Amino acid sequence: MKANLYEIFCSIQGEGLLVGTKQVFLRLTGCNLRCSYCDTMESFSGVKECLIYPVVGKTSGAKLMSNPVSVSKICNLIDSYSAPWLSLTGGEPLLQAEFMEELLLHSKDSNYKVLLETNGSLPDHLTKIIDYLDCISMDMKLPNVVGKELWDEHQEFLRIAAKKPIYIKIIITPDYEMKDFAKALQIIKKIDINIPLFIQPVTPKVMITNDSIDIYEAISLQSYALGFINDVRILPQIHPWLKLT
Ligand code: SF4
Repeated sequence: MKANLYEIFCSIQGEGLLVGTKQVFLRLTGCNLRCSYCDTMESFSGVKECLIYPVVGKTSGAKLMSNPVSVSKICNLIDSYSAPWLSLTGGEPLLQAEFMEELLLHSKDSNYKVLLETNGSLPDHLTKIIDYLDCISMDMKLPNVVGKELWDEHQEFLRIAAKKPIYIKIIITPDYEMKDFAKALQIIKKIDINIPLFIQPVTPKVMITNDSIDIYEAISLQSYALGFINDVRILPQIHPWLKLT
């Protein structure tokens, strides 16, 4: 089986519970959503060649590899970075769940752990690979970001995903609505009040502008959320601050 990839690179994780850990990122093409703040739109459509970055932390000097790429080639590339974590990311990686199932079956005796970074909207796809995962990073998308409600999908996804170590990110944009934030908290509370929640102020498109929420608003959301669940943290993406892309 083969997969359509956008890129493979090795860097440090810039978001969530595993921030700072060395990870190989396998970015698959395609996404079923269109978030207003998306920073990986270039990976939505199929590309003839994927990018392989040989130097850890550097997104320059890429080599090209023709798509689709075989499982064995991908396993060799992942091993070459000697990282303790593999991140399956996108786009939405669960759109290629069957390929991932084969990849993870091949790599089940490897030394790295597997993180799935997902938009949390495809519960049926998750069931195919959940047994192979060591951690799940699930986004909960507020309706203002995706233009529709995904509450049922998120609730079912979280019900299945909570069997594994999991954390949730909610990216907050300036036009968020409090009732939607509260609805997300109710869903988490219903499944497990100890699941860590990361409030992630959206990364401004240009770092010197102010098109995000300010820290005091994030702190007030944190205080509110702690009335529902036990572990609420505020963490922006760290890559822009480290000048890593
Ligand atoms: S789910 Fe992720 S990849 Fe898809 S549109 Fe939203 S931010 Fe972009």
